Amino acid sequence: MKKVMTIAGFDPSGGAGIQQDLKVFHLFGVYGLSAVTALTAQNSSGVAAVMAVDSRFLRKQIEVLLRDGAPEATKIGMLLSADNVSEIAAILKKFRLKNIVLDPVILSSSGRTLAEAGVPELIREKIFPYCTIITPNIHEASILSGVEITSDVDMAKAAIILKGFGPEQVIITGGHREVSAVDILYDGTFSYVKGRKAPGEYHGTGCAFSSALASLLALGFDVPAAARKAKRFMARSFRKSFSTGNGVRLFSF
Ligand code: PLP
Repeated sequence: MKKVMTIAGFDPSGGAGIQQDLKVFHLFGVYGLSAVTALTAQNSSGVAAVMAVDSRFLRKQIEVLLRDGAPEATKIGMLLSADNVSEIAAILKKFRLKNIVLDPVILSSSGRTLAEAGVPELIREKIFPYCTIITPNIHEASILSGVEITSDVDMAKAAIILKGFGPEQVIITGGHREVSAVDILYDGTFSYVKGRKAPGEYHGTGCAFSSALASLLALGFDVPAAARKAKRFMARSFRKSFSTGNGVRLFSF
């Protein structure tokens, strides 16, 4: 059994964060481990409150899990606090985990901050260098690269800048663009993963995509193949979603 670990936030709605990551791992037939970085109070309408987990306790969760052996892949999501970023950087330095997928979570779709002031820059500086791949959407890529993204050319420029901070590969997901939902993958050369923009608004797309990617890397696919398969998984997931009657759509897979 391949193991995949998620280091992410707790979402009581089950639509994002750890709860959703574990569902995705299960769908891909990998065994999910999880360490919680932050608690949130939220539903399909948005995030009402966030609270970081004590960083020493976060470290304990991960160190204890790793005593059972290293996972084949690790997905990192919402980190929230500077202390958590530093702690995760220290763990990545010490344990040399493989197949590290980082979803650099900054803001929820509803506009709530999921990374405290200075944390995006700290993630870029301290976590990016350990990553196999980072998976920002266009908003995250804009903030982290300083490039305002309105075109394919802007996406490419942002990818080059982000790769300069040390990840092996960068995929900027295009699902939040106005028309085309093409993802751009950059590892020194560019490739593109086409996809149709799904109508409607959804909760947890970044979490689902990065968890799918981590699962596929754990199963032995290389990054381009994993990126294509994860995109197809998302297309199916958009179709398998529902509305609570409030807020945005949740994935029911
Ligand atoms: N809550 C948690 C714990 C998350 O990790 C994320 C995104 O990564 C969100 C909420 C925001 O999800 P969305 O922007 O899809 O609403």
